[in-house]
Amino acid sequence: MKRMNKIIAMLLAAATILSLSAMASFSPEEVVVDRALEEVTGLYTNVYAITDASAYLLDQTTDEYGNTVYMVETSFKRTLKAASALEIPAIIGMVEAKNQLEDPAEIQAAEEYIAARIADMEENYIGVEQDTNVTLRVTIPAAMPASASLGDVITYETIGVDCGIGEEEYGPLEGIAPRSAADQQETGSALVTEAVNSASMMAARETTRNSAILDYNRIAARNYARWFSCDEGISTDHPSCHNGRYEFFDGNDCANFVSQCLENGGLIRDSQWYPYSSYWNTTGNNGAGLRQYITKNDLFFRTTNVNKAFAGSIINQLKSNGSNAGHVGLIDQNDFSTVTFCAHTNCRSSRPVSFIGYKDYYVPYYDSYGGVWVNP
Ligand SMILES: [Zn+2]
Repeated sequence: MKRMNKIIAMLLAAATILSLSAMASFSPEEVVVDRALEEVTGLYTNVYAITDASAYLLDQTTDEYGNTVYMVETSFKRTLKAASALEIPAIIGMVEAKNQLEDPAEIQAAEEYIAARIADMEENYIGVEQDTNVTLRVTIPAAMPASASLGDVITYETIGVDCGIGEEEYGPLEGIAPRSAADQQETGSALVTEAVNSASMMAARETTRNSAILDYNRIAARNYARWFSCDEGISTDHPSCHNGRYEFFDGNDCANFVSQCLENGGLIRDSQWYPYSSYWNTTGNNGAGLRQYITKNDLFFRTTNVNKAFAGSIINQLKSNGSNAGHVGLIDQNDFSTVTFCAHTNCRSSRPVSFIGYKDYYVPYYDSYGGVWVNP
C-alpha cells in the first residue's frame, strides 16, 4: 500500500511538472524561474517601477518528502513611483504629527527632524534606482490534492540575514513586501513624536557626545558596502568583493567587512578599533567586539526600530531567544518601504531585510546626510 502511495505521488509529481511545462512550452525549470521572478517583483509594483529584472536557477533538489525544491536567484532594480518626498506616506505622517504641535520649540524640533528625512529621501531615493537581490526557495509538493491548482500549493520563501546559524534563515516572501501606506504613516507620526520628546535631551547631550561620529559619512559607508559585496552567497575569498587593502577572512568576514565600511565612511581608527583587533574583527559575542566598541564609545546606539535604521546603520542578527547570533551587515537602503543590507559571510548585496524575524540595528548618533544629531 505504501509503495502504491509512493507511485501515485510520483505520478502526481510528474503531472505537476508536465502541467508546468505545458503552460508555456518551456522547460519546467524555466517556468519556475519565471514564476518566481514574477512573484517577487509583484510584491513591489504598487510602490516601485521595476526594471532590469532577471532570474536564474541556482539549484534543484528533491527533499526527504519527495518535494521538488528550486533555488532561484532574482535580481532587479526598483525606482519609487513617488515623484517627491512629500508623497511618501511616512513623510505625510510626519507632517501631520508636526501640524498637531503648538509649542514653538517643539515645532522647530519636528521641522528639523522632518527636513533631514526629506533630504535623505530626495537625494538618495526619489528617482534613484535601487538594486535588489532576492533568493527564493520554491517548493512544489510531490503530491497535490486532486482539487488543488499549482498556485494553491506552490510555496515561495526567501532567505534572510543568513550566516549559517541554522535558525530563521528562510521566511515567507511576504516578509519583504513594502510597508503599507497606513503602516508608514503611523510610523512617520511616531518618529516625529519621539524626536520632539527627546529634543531637549538631545540638545543637552550634544556637548557630551563623541564628536568622532561627525566624521562618519553614512552614504560613503553605504557605497563601500555596495561596491565590495555581491549576492552570490560566497563565504570564501573572492576577488570581486575583496578590497586588497584589507585581509579577507574565509567563513568569518562579516565584522571585518562592516569595520571596513565604517572606516571608509570616515570613522578614524584608534588604539582599540583597528585591523584586525577584536573590536574590529568580531561582532561582540566575546564581549569585546564591534557592537561594544561603537556603543561604549557613544558612536552608535542600539534600536529594534527598523524605521530608524537609515543607510549606513548596522544590522545585527539575533536568535529567536533575543541573543546575538554573531552576524552583522550594513544597511544600504531604507526608504520607509523597503530596507536592504550588504554583508560578507555569506556575501549579500542590496538584499531586502524581512520585516519578520529577529534582528536589531545600530544607528550612528549623527546623520551626516541630514546634518543632525539622532536620538535613540
Ligand atoms: Zn561577494
